[in-house]
Amino acid sequence: MTKLYDVIIIGAGPSGTSCAYNVKRLNSDASVLLLDKAAFPRYKPCGGGVSPEVANYLDFDLKPAIDSVCDTVVMVANGQEITGDKYPLWMVRREKFDNYLLSRAKEKGVEFKHSVEVQDIITTNETPTVITSIGEFQAKIVIIAEGGRGKLAKKLGYAAKNTTLAAMEYEHYTAKGNGKLYIDFDYNDSGYAWNFPKSDGLSLGIGGFVKGQDKGKVGLPQKLLNYTKQFSVDELDKKNLHGHPILLYSGRQKLVHDRVMLIGEIAGCVDPLTAEGIRPAIKSGFLAAKVINYALAKNDFKLLVNYDLAFHKEIGNDFYYARIMAYFLNKNLSRILPMLSSKRAVNAFMSVFSGKSTYREKISWRRIGKLIWKSIF
Ligand SMILES: Cc1cc2nc3c(=O)[nH]c(=O)nc-3n(C[C@H](O)[C@H](O)[C@H](O)COP(=O)(O)OP(=O)(O)OC[C@H]3O[C@@H](n4cnc5c(N)ncnc54)[C@H](O)[C@@H]3O)c2cc1C
Repeated sequence: MTKLYDVIIIGAGPSGTSCAYNVKRLNSDASVLLLDKAAFPRYKPCGGGVSPEVANYLDFDLKPAIDSVCDTVVMVANGQEITGDKYPLWMVRREKFDNYLLSRAKEKGVEFKHSVEVQDIITTNETPTVITSIGEFQAKIVIIAEGGRGKLAKKLGYAAKNTTLAAMEYEHYTAKGNGKLYIDFDYNDSGYAWNFPKSDGLSLGIGGFVKGQDKGKVGLPQKLLNYTKQFSVDELDKKNLHGHPILLYSGRQKLVHDRVMLIGEIAGCVDPLTAEGIRPAIKSGFLAAKVINYALAKNDFKLLVNYDLAFHKEIGNDFYYARIMAYFLNKNLSRILPMLSSKRAVNAFMSVFSGKSTYREKISWRRIGKLIWKSIF
């Protein structure tokens, strides 16, 4: 007879490992199987900027996973540089960061199988069956944490309707930066470019919206090259250039489907204004773990629906304000940008990113009124 796991988690990115770790932290007797199609450590295209707030959702020391701390953010718009006050941000290399989270989950007793692709989830029986490249597994609860490129949620009809951002990352392993983090609006008419400093180089990237007919024509590689030239990166070596979609939050969605739950980016758990996905992924894994623990303890799986409520209250509510800002920026970047080109605005953004405050606290209805006025007149 096949073993019945309490929880099977598909995907060992930050959302999956946070969920796996926290389920074991809350109940060391719970049996947790974590599956990933990749062999770890694995690369994930990402700027690697992490809010220190993630420490609230993982009770171990994260220092070994941090590449460096950056406290100077420069916003560039219309050739003007605006430097914010000092807010510490963590810079990580994802292969190291994700692998560290995974190693802590394994130490906690999570069973991990790498190079195992999940092909389907059968939900017709009371307990779901997970079909993989190495056989079938069964669990009381299945978590889909497959990230922005995942296909399972779509296949099952559970995929959240998210706005897709096309992004491109270039890892430069030799250039020495000046330790400052740059967000630059001058190289992309439908998003921004970035330069995140690492101890061993720079993570340079660009993101732009994929809109209907423009799909595939966003021209990101050329735009990115135009941007990187100012940092003396005159050629993009293909092996260090990575394209990847980002699924941005676009409103309240159903994330619990009987005993199958969605966490992390596949749940649209990415800030719609900044495309920050690591902190919300870790937070969604943490919230899911709390609900799972309660449902397992009560042996009542209808309680899983509380994750939908917790997600909305703890994440979606604040993303609502970020969505309003993103909407106006996307609608008319050139008109709205001057309103945000101030030290005060950079500090407000950094305060939210570093976890010191929320969008709700920083974006007043008066400001929203001004945005509406500015975008009309
Ligand atoms: C270019 C770019 C730059 C970014 N920069 C930042 C940044 O600076 N800061 C930030 O906070 N966020 C950033 N993000 C967003 C962030 O990287 C993601 O939102 C975050 O990684 C989501 O975590 P996750 O756990 O949901 O998924 P992922 O980290 O994508 O992990 C999903 C895992 O699931 C596995 N998987 C998928 N399908 C299957 C399957 N069928 N079977 C088994 N395993 C499977 C994958 O191998 C993968 O390991 C960036 C994204 C991009 C594309």
